[in-house]
This record gives sequence, C-alpha cells and structure tokens, in this order.
Amino acid sequence: MRAIRVHEFGGPDVMKLEDTPDPQPGAGEVVVTVEAVGVNPVETYIRAGIYGPREFPFTPGSDAAGTVETVGDGVAHVRPGDRVYSAGSVSGTYAQKTLCQAAQVQPLPGHVTFEQGAALGVPYVTAYRGLFQRAGAIPGETVLVHGASGGVGLAAVQMAVAAGMTVIATGGTEEGRKLVSEQGAAHVLDHHAGGYLDQIKPLTGGRGVDVILEMLANVNLGKDLGLLAPQGRVIVIGSRGKVEIDPRDTMSRDADIRGMAGPNIGEAERRSIHAALIAGLKNGTLRPIVGRTMPLADAPRAHEEVMRPSGALGKIVLRP
Ligand code: NAP
Repeated sequence: MRAIRVHEFGGPDVMKLEDTPDPQPGAGEVVVTVEAVGVNPVETYIRAGIYGPREFPFTPGSDAAGTVETVGDGVAHVRPGDRVYSAGSVSGTYAQKTLCQAAQVQPLPGHVTFEQGAALGVPYVTAYRGLFQRAGAIPGETVLVHGASGGVGLAAVQMAVAAGMTVIATGGTEEGRKLVSEQGAAHVLDHHAGGYLDQIKPLTGGRGVDVILEMLANVNLGKDLGLLAPQGRVIVIGSRGKVEIDPRDTMSRDADIRGMAGPNIGEAERRSIHAALIAGLKNGTLRPIVGRTMPLADAPRAHEEVMRPSGALGKIVLRP
C-alpha cells in the first residue's frame, strides 16, 4: 500500500509518500481500507518533534473513515465491509490502509460521508470532552467558543446548540463566521477586530459567560477570565505559547481554569463520548463540516494549511 512516512523530525517536507507492507490484524485489531483522512494540528507538532521521541519511520494520523477489510480474533462490534470511522490508530491513518485497536474503530452511520467521518475523531471527541466532561456545561448556560471556525470549534458549537446552551462564538474571517453562524451560534464575533471582547458581557446581560472553550489560550486566557460569570469555567483546549493572567480574576468569581488533553480520557468516558457522537450523527444534530479535500500526496501542503494563523473553515481531509 501507499502511505506517508516520516523518517526524521522536521518541516512538512519530511513527509514522503512511499510503498509499505499492508498491515495485518492481530487479536483485538482491525484493518480499515481508508477512504478519507482527517488532518489535525497535533500531527504537525508530532512531525516537528515537539511531542517527544518517536520510532522512525512512522505514519502520522489518528483520524480516518473507510471500510473494514479484516478483523482479528475477538473483534465483534464491526465486520469486514462495515463503514467505520477511527479515533486513534496503531499504524497511522495517512495511508491507504490503517491498523487499529478494536476500540479505536466505531460504526459510521450510512448517511455520513467518509470525508465527514474523517472529521470526527480528534475534533468531535475533543469538543465533547471539553464541553461536557471537563466544563460540565448544562442546558441554559452561555458558552463562548473562542475560535469556532475550525474542526473543534464547529463541533463544539453544534453540540452546545443541540444541548440548549446559548452560544457566543468567534471566527477570524467573514467566511468562517458565516459557517459558525449557520451552526446556530446566537452571536458571532471577529477575534481579530479591536474591542470585540467588550461586546461579550453585554450580550449576556452583564453577567458573563458560564463556559469558555479556548482554542488559543496563549493569546486569550488572561482576557477570558474577565469575561466569566460567577463559577465560570475556562477549558484550555489549544495553546501555542505562554500568557500572563491576573489570578485575582479567578478569585472574585470562584472561577476555574481547566486543562484537557485527549490521551487523559479514560476508557469508560471514551465509550460514552462515542455513544453520544453516533447518536448525534443519527439524529442530525452533529454534521461534520469539511472545508478542503486534497490527495494524500499533498499531506505537506495540508500541514501548512492547518497551521495558518487564520482562515479555518472546518476540516482539512486527505483522500488516499
Ligand atoms: P483548526 O481547525 O486549525 O482551527 C483553529 C481555530 O483557532 C480556528 O477557529 C481559528 O479561527 C482559531 N483562532 C485563530 N486565531 C484565534 C484567536 N486569536 N483567538 C481565538 N481563536 C483563534 O484547529 P482545531 O483542530 O480546531 O484545534 C484548535 C486548537 O486546539 C489547536 O491548537 C489544536 O492543537 C488544539 N487541540 C487540542 C486538543 C486537546 O486535547 N487539548 C485536541 C484537539 C485540538 P480563524 O481561522 O477563523 O481565525
């Protein structure tokens, strides 16, 4: 099969399309013929060597959608021929086939395209984890999705709207803000416009927002704290550097700053997340949005695009 291989850490060009042996499933494993691959910022950090040592060569990626080719002993929840999405992979998903542990593979409802299925793993799991399991957001609360036009942000807007929360969201381009608005956000602001933060509290009648899902904490965390309602929670989802905060902003409102990272999700929590995602896909409240599709060989260009400082429009997907 053809797969992207990384032989050394470095810029996007260290990713090369090569021939590699087809994966074979062991007990408790599944081989998926990949139709679409989701590209996430974390794969650029791993490729660059920021996330610590890796064995070379490796194939990047955890998110894909396709058809089950073969299953190993003890796999019962999917069968050869089933449409599935992956959230995690043993061999990497930037490839024509990927080897997964059984628990990393979930059935993909029939009306959801493979491109949409590839947009589920990291973004939707992260949005659900942040909104419900870390923030404990409940219907009636007001949620600021700070950076809503990308993979995680759009997922979070859909989930919060479906759960009966009032969503204030931000995007950096007109096209991005339109997309966010179409997902049901009540107010959409431009996070590059001067003074946009001053508009947020008035939108809540002066009370502040209950939950902030933060995609760029190194820029926004200090200012986020001043936007919170009493008992407000900021969930740090994305951060690319350091930031100064005034701790007194947390004291005055009994506020929490809560971090999160995908690998910390426990098995039972993960099962619960996928049950919720599949239910949301089936009832139409979750509708993954694919902004750009490219051939697998263009993985280097996809990594450049996903790290652009602004201009996100949902998911970038590779077709093997
Ligand atoms: P993405 O699709 O590239 O989206 C990035 C988002 O950040 C866009 O909505 C972008 O808006 C927004 N943004 C740009 N400048 C901003 C600003 N000044 N303030 C607020 N938002 C701003 O990436 P993603 O997949 O959604 O991931 C978002 C971040 O979360 C990344 O840093 C990623 O590494 C991280 N992440 C963390 C976890 C975890 O487990 N903690 C999991 C997944 C992702 P415009 O392009 O419209 O300007």
